[in-house]
Amino acid sequence: MALSRLVKPPFLRATRRCLSSRDRDEKNSNLIHASELETPIGELPSSAKIVICGGGAQGAAIAYKLALRGLGNDTVLLDQGVLGGGTTWHSSGLISLMKPSVVETKLTKISKDLYLELQNEHGFYTGWKEVGSLYIAQTEDRMQYYRRLKSESVARKVDCELVTPKDCKQLCPAIEVSDLKGGLWIPGDGVANPYEICLALSHLAAQRGVQIVHVKRWSALDYMVCNGLTNAASSSCTYRTHGCSYKIIL
Ligand SMILES: Cc1cc2nc3c(=O)[nH]c(=O)nc-3n(C[C@H](O)[C@H](O)[C@H](O)COP(=O)(O)OP(=O)(O)OC[C@H]3O[C@@H](n4cnc5c(N)ncnc54)[C@H](O)[C@@H]3O)c2cc1C
Repeated sequence: MALSRLVKPPFLRATRRCLSSRDRDEKNSNLIHASELETPIGELPSSAKIVICGGGAQGAAIAYKLALRGLGNDTVLLDQGVLGGGTTWHSSGLISLMKPSVVETKLTKISKDLYLELQNEHGFYTGWKEVGSLYIAQTEDRMQYYRRLKSESVARKVDCELVTPKDCKQLCPAIEVSDLKGGLWIPGDGVANPYEICLALSHLAAQRGVQIVHVKRWSALDYMVCNGLTNAASSSCTYRTHGCSYKIIL
């Protein structure tokens, strides 16, 4: 019997785990889809301690985290349009743990934990599927880069494996491997649904006291920039945070 049939490499075990978690996910109809829930939308208050401008994935996550720290009733989340309707809506939803810097890797791990928390503790559908990522190398230079990532992965506590072209074929039968030097397999990577995540975070934040308010684009900006020169002329706030992505138009 071939050795590979006796000792299953970790990445093959991971693949089986991915497939089974996908099956479970599809069968699991008990999860709540936040897009099917009504999230209460309020009026612009005359004052607020904390104002978050922009209800995308970032603004919603900030609102949720503040609410968890007991600051829900002091927080207003402003958006000019539909919650999650900005770049969050267009995102392909890939979650890759091996980022160029240590800080980015840490942030991605925190995000992944947050999505698992939404699903496992709060019962929200997040679309999370731990399907893993396969990075492939056609050149020796690229393979060398993956070897460096592999050694860095120990300090970053990211599980990953250097793989041969044959392994690449096993992991992804659709790819041509004759011109590959090898690859890097990251089993903990996955995909998620950014829109559902954003709405789930907003919903939980609202349940914990955060006021979600629809405003005109310019009034939200004014609220941020001019400390309260909004439609509601007397509005004021102590802390402001900008969650309008790079799409904000000044
Ligand atoms: C699970 C997940 C997976 C992702 N995967 C990928 C990926 O594979 N590839 C990738 O490139 N990116 C990915 N991303 C990132 C994504 O593409 C976006 O960059 C990210 O969601 C942006 O969130 P945001 O809250 O900063 O901005 P947005 O989602 O754009 O939200 C900004 C909000 O601000 C509001 N706003 C703007 N201006 C004003 C104003 N003047 N007044 C009031 N409101 C205003 C808008 O209406 C909008 O709702 C992912 C994100 C998530 C959450």
